Amino acid sequence: MSKVMIIGAGGVGNVVAKKCAQNDGVFTEVLLASRTVSKCDKIVAEIHEHFPQSRTKFTTAAVDADNVPELAAMIRDFSPELVINVALPYQDLTIMDACLETGVHYLDTANYEPRDVAKFEYSWQWAYRERFEKAGLMALLGCGFDPGATNVFTAHHAKHHFSEIHYLDIVDCNNGNHGKAFATNFNPEINIREITANGRYWENGEWVETAPLEISQDIYYPKVATRKSYVLYHEELESLVQNFPTIKRARFWMTFGEAYIKHLNVLEGIGMTSIEPIDFRGQKIAPIEFLKAVLPAPESLAEGYTGQTCIGVQARGLGKNGEPDKVHFVYNVTDHAETYREVQAQGISYTTGVPAMIGAMLMLQGVWKKPGVYNVEEFDPDPFIAAMNEWGLPVDELAGIELVKD
Ligand code: NDP
Repeated sequence: MSKVMIIGAGGVGNVVAKKCAQNDGVFTEVLLASRTVSKCDKIVAEIHEHFPQSRTKFTTAAVDADNVPELAAMIRDFSPELVINVALPYQDLTIMDACLETGVHYLDTANYEPRDVAKFEYSWQWAYRERFEKAGLMALLGCGFDPGATNVFTAHHAKHHFSEIHYLDIVDCNNGNHGKAFATNFNPEINIREITANGRYWENGEWVETAPLEISQDIYYPKVATRKSYVLYHEELESLVQNFPTIKRARFWMTFGEAYIKHLNVLEGIGMTSIEPIDFRGQKIAPIEFLKAVLPAPESLAEGYTGQTCIGVQARGLGKNGEPDKVHFVYNVTDHAETYREVQAQGISYTTGVPAMIGAMLMLQGVWKKPGVYNVEEFDPDPFIAAMNEWGLPVDELAGIELVKD
């Protein structure tokens, strides 16, 4: 019997809300709040249409999550146990502040980013550790798929397969087709900031910086395809190399199609991806915000999206039974058309929203619960993987085959 507040009604918010509706034994009451309340209302109308048997009671509200007093007043009024933040990374700190002020637990799927610097790191949110601990509250950071399930997969490797992980490769393939010339699968502004920033990976105790999309190789994604994949920096690397100090090298790989890269190069070349505000007709505007406004919204890609995603984690190292160079892969394959049939969402929103619901469920049930600020790999991976299998993200394993080469 739990009340939660979901903030954000985009592609991911839609999935979290619908998964809570499916899991009505745990999520009895949900307030779905976002900047544009009509988006919340649309999601709730779809829940009534597609899940008429759900006993979860939904209400909606407009909120500006940048405004702590407004947010705190709404949280106080609704009095949830937990806030699920699936707005944008810009709102992480204000929502954490409001949770501290009102005594409510917190969960998100992406690390805080200031609007004016493309700097991806947990330092801002880890700085809240003591305050959450003292307040007896828990904040769970990065509980989507990557970060999120990928952290759980790494913890699974460490718990069940390796006494020491030496090499970690997180691989993310979207082999889907949405039929648009150029679009991003989650918030375009956040997505483009991530990809156009320099790449980075961890090696021998330090970060090695690369130019954007400088390193690539063909990777075979089981059940899906062989796809060219590029090294880029992804936030889970930061917490994983801290929490698993035997790791000598950790990299993150993502697939991009040729057309996507060509569009991105052109947009970057003409300054459209810049986060530096320019003067336009007397108004300050960051080109990337304008670009976001003209690109398709991630949730609009869902209908007619075909193909699959395959996201997983390859580990190499010292096996539990003394194997000196064991290699093992843990992964999930998700089909865009199936997720559309189930919750009217494309696969990227789905693979993010389901882990957020699962993390929230484990916190509410007290299975994952301790005061402080935590990354997902700091908890027992077993109940999370069991829930992934139950709630639509089946987990598979592949032993002894090296998918990512040196
Ligand atoms: P969308 O842009 O589709 O949705 C974001 C939502 O947040 C919108 O409803 C938006 O409102 C709302 N919002 C933005 N600013 C505010 C504000 N100040 N106050 C209240 N609401 C606000 O993004 P996605 O759903 O694709 O992504 C959501 C989050 O999930 C992002 O943080 C993204 O980085 C993260 N993510 C994580 C992944 C993972 O695997 N860990 C993968 C993919 C995404 P409005 O409609 O008015 O703009």
